[in-house]
Amino acid sequence: MKNNDILIIHGTDYKNMTIRLLEQAGLADLIGDRKKKIGMKPNLVVAKDPSQGATTHGELLEGVICYLQNNGFRNITIMEGSWVGDSTPAAFRAAGYDRISRQYGVELKDLQADTWKTYDAAGMDIRLCDSAAEVDFMINMPVLKGHCQTTVTCALKNNKGVIPNSEKRRFHTMGLHKPIAHLNTVARNDFILVDNICGDLDFEEGGNPVVMNRILAFLDPVLCDSFVCESMGYSPEEVEYITRAEQLGVGSMDTSSANVVYLNEDLSDKSKFHMTGRVKKLASYTDGRDACSACFGSLIYALDRLQDRGELKKGLPPVAIGQGYKGQSGNIGVGQCTSCFAKSLKGCPPRALDMVEFLEKEWL
Ligand code: SF4
Repeated sequence: MKNNDILIIHGTDYKNMTIRLLEQAGLADLIGDRKKKIGMKPNLVVAKDPSQGATTHGELLEGVICYLQNNGFRNITIMEGSWVGDSTPAAFRAAGYDRISRQYGVELKDLQADTWKTYDAAGMDIRLCDSAAEVDFMINMPVLKGHCQTTVTCALKNNKGVIPNSEKRRFHTMGLHKPIAHLNTVARNDFILVDNICGDLDFEEGGNPVVMNRILAFLDPVLCDSFVCESMGYSPEEVEYITRAEQLGVGSMDTSSANVVYLNEDLSDKSKFHMTGRVKKLASYTDGRDACSACFGSLIYALDRLQDRGELKKGLPPVAIGQGYKGQSGNIGVGQCTSCFAKSLKGCPPRALDMVEFLEKEWL
């Protein structure tokens, strides 16, 4: 796997999807020496079940552990520090990690209770937990989701879990963007596995999950977060910590040079999640027939951007989406399945950012 690669897999068998993605990425070769100390850093910001859209699904951790153990790696630790005010052990239990720890013999480390040291992070002093600093290879496992303060949250911001609580408080007094960018000059991002199963529409603590049923892999955390912005209908330049991280040399925002590899030919799946209040309201502007989750979720994010701008109004014709429209004629639709419509956006699935542009021009 190269730095500009983005691997994407769709489906609902999350554990086996993870294993397939890691095989495709050649993770064992990327790590090298079997004796290396490997850290897994999920997002357990709060003590909630992952179906709420805030936390990393346990199936992804199981997939990573099975893959690593089958390839001879034994020194593996799951590490996380929940946000200030929530208990990491409670979050481990809520996400089912205590069972995973017992079943696979992998240690759970609460970074809220860890010791720490101060590092020079490109000109800013940053405190980093010792257990995170000591690993030889860190697998960052964020959830792709919205964030009320920083717009999006994924790889770069997930590293806020490897600093002590006192440092989290200090980050908030500094407005988050600058310290997050500097943190990523010292926190490891050796491999990034993104949980894009049902991340929240716009809150880091979940409650309005948007089902996408995808898992993504990256080597570059800046490319990861830039791609995430476009998947949610934002331009990466809108998110200050991403541009700052690029300026500090953490990675590249150039999604146009990315090599996107889809591991499935057929993107269809049977979603097992239900829509909640706000997602359901946005979905009322659509007319879906057998839509793949990744496509429908992208449309929900695009509609949310239009909602933010006050552009959604009653009486608009519904936007068609889904495999049920193949070969059918109609008014307006997104995705290649609606290519026979009078107005249609190409792509399979199209990016939310492109959907926003298309709908603003052709629909509103
Ligand atoms: S364009 Fe059609 S096949 Fe492609 S992701 Fe969308 S619904 Fe699925």
